[in-house]
Amino acid sequence: MTDTHPLVLFNSLTRQPEEFQPVHAGEARVYTCGPTVYNYPHIGNMRAYVFADVLGRTLSYKGYKLTHVINITDVGHLTDDADAGEDKLEKAAKERAQSIWDIAQHYTEAYWADIKALNIRAPAEWSIATKYVPEMIAFAQSIADKHCYELPTGLYFDVSTVADYGRLARAATDEGEGRIEHVEGKRHAADFAIWRKTPEGEKRQMEWDSPWGRGAPGWHLECSVMSGKLLGFPFDIHTGGIDHREIHHPNEIAQNQAFCCTNGLDVPANSGARVWMHNNFLVERSGKMSKSSGEFLRLQLLIDKGYHPLAYRLMCLQAHYRSELEFSWDGLGAALTRLKRLVMAVTALRAQAEPVAGSGARFAPFLDRFAAALSDDLNTPVGLTVLEEVAALKKVDAGEKLAAIAAMDAVLGLDLLALDRAELRLRPKAAEIAEAEIEATLARRKEARAAKDFAASDALRDELAARGVEVMDGDPLGWEWKLGG
Ligand code: AMP
Ligand code: ZN
Repeated sequence: MTDTHPLVLFNSLTRQPEEFQPVHAGEARVYTCGPTVYNYPHIGNMRAYVFADVLGRTLSYKGYKLTHVINITDVGHLTDDADAGEDKLEKAAKERAQSIWDIAQHYTEAYWADIKALNIRAPAEWSIATKYVPEMIAFAQSIADKHCYELPTGLYFDVSTVADYGRLARAATDEGEGRIEHVEGKRHAADFAIWRKTPEGEKRQMEWDSPWGRGAPGWHLECSVMSGKLLGFPFDIHTGGIDHREIHHPNEIAQNQAFCCTNGLDVPANSGARVWMHNNFLVERSGKMSKSSGEFLRLQLLIDKGYHPLAYRLMCLQAHYRSELEFSWDGLGAALTRLKRLVMAVTALRAQAEPVAGSGARFAPFLDRFAAALSDDLNTPVGLTVLEEVAALKKVDAGEKLAAIAAMDAVLGLDLLALDRAELRLRPKAAEIAEAEIEATLARRKEARAAKDFAASDALRDELAARGVEVMDGDPLGWEWKLGG
């Protein structure tokens, strides 16, 4: 397929859409800030990885050889995101009387399960922070003389030693500083720890020796070290949620400037990555997204309520990644219906043909519009509508149509060619009735209706309703029944 649209991405550093120019011809190297594995990710967190996945898939679609790295923060992230408070992992380990390593392992696996369920492609490397501690110490040593100072609590980065500190955040300095906890002796409120010393008399489960005493690396340090080591400075694109635009990424950038001995951010590559991209938040009014709220919105909760996880992926794609997206169960239900329609169209086609090698001239204008949409700063809402237009085309070759759908789905990642419509039924975990029993009762009801015995038919319907099965007569999607509601 010929795709002639230049890829334009919005660079948070310049606050401008910019044509993507790879650092290495034909390649795209992308780093995504990953999870801190002291708890389950909520679905808002997963929006950040759906976005990074669509970016990666778009780069692949456009022919770039993609190297994607996502890190796993299994150390050194404090409870208040600034430079004070307890280490989240140490805290979780204490509360649950478990080893910190077991906690990290458990939540890393839970995160990977969500990644898989959302059809997010595995990156070239999951970089695990604790495996890079010697590199972090070496990095810190190389910048310590010129850019850092030591306090009893750790080694701090002096933000006045680099040009344009905080350019990415665009915040008034005092606003940025207001959110950072006061630490005795810091030269500037925005200075941050790159090594945190274990307090006198304490022993942590995770600590390492360093030139600044036993302790743990600061959170910002790990991303600078792993991105630089695995992708090489400068690399192409660094991604994360919009909250990272305020503190974490400006701090990473300052470290990268110090390490690369480069200065002003008028040359974008001096920040370590040429393009910095941020997804906006998924918001939820009742506060269930917060991990401290007990039962919070994690992907498993959606699955337990009977929603296929890819309905959530589609919900994410319906919004542009730079727009806020409000979560609601109705919205998720609507996304599930949209997904069902697409799957049913594909199922009907597959009964007639297999995808052919190329989709042919009939589909070229659609694929062109699709490529234009995705090339325009990943406009997935428009991409989805083009996909639906193709799915609705009549009197076209089934094999070619399947090929066109497959080409678009390679970017959107809805797994349309593999999904079975029965998998998309609402099927809450709490439901106690077996599907075979539902089908048998429905068959009896069909017979009763055929015999015009409407009393019997209604009784069977009520019997099912009492057990949580909603019978959907005349359902245009032909689903016949669903569990729950
Ligand atoms: P964390 O594990 O807290 O470091 O977050 C993992 C990723 O999720 C980061 O890129 C965050 O910026 C992002 N993130 C956090 N909350 C949300 C949200 N509500 N919506 C979208 N992304 C989020
Ligand atoms: Zn990071």
